[in-house]
Amino acid sequence: MKVPQIDLWAHHEPLMAQFSEALERVVRSNQFILGQEEKEFEAACSEYLDVKHAIGVGNGTDALAISLRALGIEPGDEVITTPFTFIATAEVIVALGAKPVFVDMKPDTYNLDPSKIEDAITEKTKVILPVHLYGQCAEMDPISDIAHKNNLKTLEDAAQAFGSTYKGKKVGGLGDLTIFSFFPTKNLGALGDSGLITTNDDELYEKCRLIRVHGAPKKYYHTLIGQNSRLDTLQAAFLRIKLTHIDSYNQKRVENARVYSEALNDLVDVPVIHSDCNHIYHQYTLRTSKRDELMQFLKQNEIGVGIHYPYPLHLQPALKGLGYREGSFPEAEKAATQVMSLPVYPELTSQQRSFVIDKIKEFFS
Ligand SMILES: *Cc1c(COP(=O)(O)O)cnc(C)c1O
Repeated sequence: MKVPQIDLWAHHEPLMAQFSEALERVVRSNQFILGQEEKEFEAACSEYLDVKHAIGVGNGTDALAISLRALGIEPGDEVITTPFTFIATAEVIVALGAKPVFVDMKPDTYNLDPSKIEDAITEKTKVILPVHLYGQCAEMDPISDIAHKNNLKTLEDAAQAFGSTYKGKKVGGLGDLTIFSFFPTKNLGALGDSGLITTNDDELYEKCRLIRVHGAPKKYYHTLIGQNSRLDTLQAAFLRIKLTHIDSYNQKRVENARVYSEALNDLVDVPVIHSDCNHIYHQYTLRTSKRDELMQFLKQNEIGVGIHYPYPLHLQPALKGLGYREGSFPEAEKAATQVMSLPVYPELTSQQRSFVIDKIKEFFS
């Protein structure tokens, strides 16, 4: 039995008629960038996420860059973040001439360890940037407390956590700014690139909107240097359709994860959920010291598995200039050698799920 890591056709096939309708509607409207369809999508996201403002942008990486610019990040500033994430989180900081200052992750949740943040704060620190890794929210109350106490802003990277909650409140309105990615394989994915910024702050909202369109409050009049990162009308139309199903998609991921964890708990370290957080399992990531052997065995059995992530950011050649060494962040380094993600996508069948479980049991027997 073949079990891919993700099956996007199975995900999209039931929506094809609606996608075709949306395509025709957009093409007939002659409107391809932002526009009414995009406004409706932003409004639907605001409502779903229970946040005042949503701003559609070109992708999640741009959403991070625009947010950091709106927060006033300049060359020489420092941004505190985790070394255990996708490169985009730190890449945008470096691209603005600022410095990512890493703080190690917690070994159980893989999220930023709040108890280690204060030691990393200097007079140059401007922003704390937690990542809600794999779909589980970081510990936002302690992080926000530290930010307030030290006069810092918070930017949340929720690229993997659309619909996730913290103390019962949806991710998106917890910090000063939050970003989402709709890369096709994310738990809410477009049929191409796109992203979103959310905030309850009117001033930051206006700034992000300006930066998204060349700093232009009206046509051909520019009040600041911005960039071009607008959400395609067509992607907005597709995303509006998929947004109506997001709770069902997330619930199916949660159910797959529940069955995996129950069956595999004695064999591997299954995901740990912090009591204040919930998890929507953008990835179902387990941990074992036999990771490489298990991964090879599952691949031989045509099961799609992935490593998120094989190298912590402070050991990436592209970030060598930051001056970190091996041993700087032991938890992230250890996790990078032990984590492995199983197929957890909503359309995974119970037969496929059982096959994955059986093969893992076979490996350990
Ligand atoms: C996917 C991802 C991004 C980048 O999003 P894109 O839309 O691909 O630019 C940023 N941060 C994290 C944690 C991600 O997983």
